Amino acid sequence: MAPSLAKCEARDAADPLAPFRDRFALPDGVIYLDGNSLGALPRDTAARVARVIDAEWGDGLVRSWNEADWIDAPQRVGAKIARLLGAAGDEVLVADSTSVNIYKLLCAALSAAGGRHTILTEPGNFPTDLHIAQGIAAQQADVTLRTVPRDEIVAAADAGTVVLLTHVHYKTGARFDMAAINREVAGRGGVVVWDLSHSVGAIELDLAAAGAQLAVGSGYKYLNGGPGAPAFVFVARELQAGLASPITGWFGHADPFAFADDYVPGPGLAPFMSGTPPILGLAALECGVDLMLEADIAQLAAKGQALCDLFIERVETRCPGLELVTPRDPAVRGSHVSFRHQHGYAVMQALIERGVIGDFRTPDVIRFGMTPLYIGYADAWRAVEILAEVLETRAWADPRYAVRARVT
Ligand SMILES: *Cc1c(COP(=O)(O)O)cnc(C)c1O
Repeated sequence: MAPSLAKCEARDAADPLAPFRDRFALPDGVIYLDGNSLGALPRDTAARVARVIDAEWGDGLVRSWNEADWIDAPQRVGAKIARLLGAAGDEVLVADSTSVNIYKLLCAALSAAGGRHTILTEPGNFPTDLHIAQGIAAQQADVTLRTVPRDEIVAAADAGTVVLLTHVHYKTGARFDMAAINREVAGRGGVVVWDLSHSVGAIELDLAAAGAQLAVGSGYKYLNGGPGAPAFVFVARELQAGLASPITGWFGHADPFAFADDYVPGPGLAPFMSGTPPILGLAALECGVDLMLEADIAQLAAKGQALCDLFIERVETRCPGLELVTPRDPAVRGSHVSFRHQHGYAVMQALIERGVIGDFRTPDVIRFGMTPLYIGYADAWRAVEILAEVLETRAWADPRYAVRARVT
């Protein structure tokens, strides 16, 4: 049965997740397909952050570390994110940025277990993952960085290897079989650090069942935590005692407020706290996570895949000039869809000007995030109609769209 706009509207009307759309402050006239880059603003966030600023900071001042429970926010919000990961509450901590967390976990995994000497990843991984690994290899004379194609990763791993992989690829949307890779790398004595930035809040995760040991992820994409929201680290409980963070800040100390001269690492994940947690950022992130936890994650994941399927079907019907980059099989992709077009940058600029916000990734990829909390089936349908119009009329050829912005 071919889809039609009316059928998409009927699906929206029957969708138990549809009411979440009104929990976000999205501007009229915009179809926002870039929530995998910067999640949308939950309506509750402004009031919650204002309360933290006015009542907790303004009136409570330094007392709020205890009275407003600021001190526990990294663990509290981490335990909430753990529910989205299939992890235990004490296995997740909110701290720093994803980039810094990659640094911490790579260094910790390299120096654990008698010392490992190779970071193994794939070419074309997200730039910060590669750059952080390059930096560690440059700083530590005995560490080498190897990049091999994704289907050769497992065979290249051994007991001296820390594998760094992005679970859902930021550009193609291709998803690794996490359980299989964990099993095979662990069988060879290695360990995997997973970057879940494009997975958390987008697809169902069960880190425990998948045998995951180490992971990081972003707070400002599908978790809707706001620009530059703090990120998270996951360390499986059995590894926690054996891992040392390379950043031995005072918040990771066993007793920060003893103000001791000598560093003694705290229990569990505490050492992965570098310094004072960013309370305003944590408050906004907690709003995004709380909202997501109101939804059923299995329903969310299923809707994300249904939106991707619909979007792919519509683009292939209406936009013959575009080449699908993302896997067709929902089991091996995330919740965004990418296509190749020679003039992808200009096509995306033309789309954005027409109210369809996706993004462009070099050299020729246009990317569309299907965030099931606030995107509906009719949105996906309409976005493709606008894309078809941009391509049919060659609206993208307008010279204004050739000028690159600083942030794309
Ligand atoms: C978005 C993203 C990051 C972001 O890292 P920051 O430190 O927040 O800039 C890292 N890795 C992946 C795979 C991402 O998609």
